[in-house]
Amino acid sequence: MRPRTCLAPEGKVPSIVDYRPKSTLKVPSTMRMKAKFPVVDFHGHPGGAQIGSVEALERFGPTLDSINVRLMVVAGNVSGDRLTQGIALVNQSKTMKDRVRFLTGISFNGVGTPGWAQKAIAQLEADAKAGAVGIGEVGKGFGLSAKKADGSRLKLNDPELAPVFEAAGRLKLAVFIHTADPQEFFREVDYTNERWLEQSLFPERRYPQDRYPSFDQLMAERDSLFRRHPKTTFVAAHLGWHANDLGRLGKMFDAMPNVLGEMGAVLYDIGRQPRAAHDFFVKYQDRILFGKDSFQPEEYPYYWRVLETRDDYFDYYRDYHAFWKLYGIDLPDAVLKKVYYQNALRIMPALGAAAMGFPK
Ligand SMILES: [Zn+2]
Repeated sequence: MRPRTCLAPEGKVPSIVDYRPKSTLKVPSTMRMKAKFPVVDFHGHPGGAQIGSVEALERFGPTLDSINVRLMVVAGNVSGDRLTQGIALVNQSKTMKDRVRFLTGISFNGVGTPGWAQKAIAQLEADAKAGAVGIGEVGKGFGLSAKKADGSRLKLNDPELAPVFEAAGRLKLAVFIHTADPQEFFREVDYTNERWLEQSLFPERRYPQDRYPSFDQLMAERDSLFRRHPKTTFVAAHLGWHANDLGRLGKMFDAMPNVLGEMGAVLYDIGRQPRAAHDFFVKYQDRILFGKDSFQPEEYPYYWRVLETRDDYFDYYRDYHAFWKLYGIDLPDAVLKKVYYQNALRIMPALGAAAMGFPK
């Protein structure tokens, strides 16, 4: 029964999992494998099958070509030997040496013990020298679960971290940081929760409020970190989890000129507000980076379709993220180029030859 709305349905009511209506809407589809312009994937997590050996790397090249991703940025948060080994492999490949670059990482183990910051800075300096082009992905554990040496929760704006984020600015290493998760993961999983299905399928994605800081607490700490270091470039992963509230994201961009957003895994929010998202991307065209997160080549074309086309009412590739339909936001070429590669090249001055494969 839906009181005051309609009568009770006749017969057995399907579950949310079983109800899959087929759209009868006939509209053109312009899904294409390749992006219109070459792309930097700023949020890359390729694995051993892609970058684990020279042979794997050389198989990876044609896969990237098939979707027009020219440069993969590996956001594995690795430093030291693991980083230099990864870079050495890439350098051994004639065809791939300018198509993969690595971010370095920060280890938050031991914050609060004397010398932690100096050690972390020395590591960043060494990694930058070895070829790292930025820092990250600083994972969501930073804020949610990372602890200080004394056992207390490490807050994102802890003053002990300040010298390290200052050093990042001095070394011109942009800091790519994933904070929290969608806001719906921080509240009660009732039938009004937009991510009810996902949290029912993956209960570990919930952040019960008796054990975790709230979404807004984490956002406040993150913003305080960004504000404290105006000379350091920060990239908020997943558009800072504000793609469902572009007004809030716009305020953040206005207040913090040192902050950009990466758009991975929030396509379902961009594509459900095509007019607002179009205007937002045009207004903040210098502040948004393309990133995909998990490497599934067949999923990239959904991004091209949302960003490049005027297509109406099509499915997202993951129905537990979004059971609603998406629309193309029809960005002008000049904006696409910024989002696809120009902004990424601007904030990573250390790209070197990898920057040369892009149109001038
Ligand atoms: Zn990631």
